[in-house]
Amino acid sequence: MPTPVSALSLQRPRTLTAALAMLADDPTLTPIAGCTDVFVNLHFGTLENRRFVDLWGLDELRGIRAGASGASRASIRIGALATYTDIIRSPLVQRRVPMLVAAAREVGGAQIQNRGTLGGNIANASPAGDTLPVLAAAGARVVLRSAKGERTVPFNGFYTGYRTSVRQPAELITAVEIPPIEGRQWWRKVGTRRAQAISKVMMAGVRGRTVRVAIGSVAPTVVQATAAAEVLTKGGSIADAQTALRSEITPIDDIRSTGEYRLRVAENLLAAFWRETK
Ligand SMILES: Cc1cc2nc3c(=O)[nH]c(=O)nc-3n(C[C@H](O)[C@H](O)[C@H](O)COP(=O)(O)OP(=O)(O)OC[C@H]3O[C@@H](n4cnc5c(N)ncnc54)[C@H](O)[C@@H]3O)c2cc1C
Repeated sequence: MPTPVSALSLQRPRTLTAALAMLADDPTLTPIAGCTDVFVNLHFGTLENRRFVDLWGLDELRGIRAGASGASRASIRIGALATYTDIIRSPLVQRRVPMLVAAAREVGGAQIQNRGTLGGNIANASPAGDTLPVLAAAGARVVLRSAKGERTVPFNGFYTGYRTSVRQPAELITAVEIPPIEGRQWWRKVGTRRAQAISKVMMAGVRGRTVRVAIGSVAPTVVQATAAAEVLTKGGSIADAQTALRSEITPIDDIRSTGEYRLRVAENLLAAFWRETK
């Protein structure tokens, strides 16, 4: 049953400092960005939280730019409030992280792409979050800020388990930093439909001197397929890499797919990645 709106409260800070002060005072407040995930939970009455902080007006969390040095090979910094549409339209992201643009294009439909944010996708921590394999394969870093200060954590150490992360309740994700990526980038999502469907399996890959592969929807959190990637980095065959992949993922059966199906799809995606990035 939908949560009655009259039971909810919403605070609208004008600055990031004000938002962080609100969260420091009451870490049970729930931040909302595009609200596309939160609204679904409110609609189904599955969200216990009743008090929210609206981040949407905080321009400090917007913007996509090259790192502080401005050098073309510096990291790029994507504000947590960047929407999928912002990402798709950004010449910088198109040039530097085309696999993120490819993933963003397949998130929901136009409405979700206009409202859904990168920070929300990360914080929501769904194993089926489409940007997560991209960020894992890219070696991204997550910038977290609280009233006490800022810290940066490697994306590959951000999640601690199913829907849990190192983010503290009084911290906001403020941005994501993506270092220069050497090699060809690749992204593929397998779902029942091209968009508007939750991914059954998705994979991001980087084929450079070192190969990197990350897979979503095959474990409680996004998985870096380090064993399979190492086989490929060392010049091993795709068959050996697929065998290595089997040893590092054990997808479960759920309402969308069986574990065995997901395993086969993941193996096939690995082969497609290798074939298409020759
Ligand atoms: C119809 C539909 C289709 C969808 N399709 C896809 C899809 O194809 N692929 C996909 O990956 N997702 C999909 N989603 C899920 C959703 O749109 C994305 O996860 C989106 O990126 C969430 O961003 P948001 O800004 O709307 O998050 P919100 O709903 O505002 O927040 C989500 C969670 O993140 C937290 N949060 C948000 N921003 C921050 C921040 N800066 N710091 C700390 N915590 C924060 C909130 O507290 C909440 O727990 C879909 C959703 C719908 C309704």
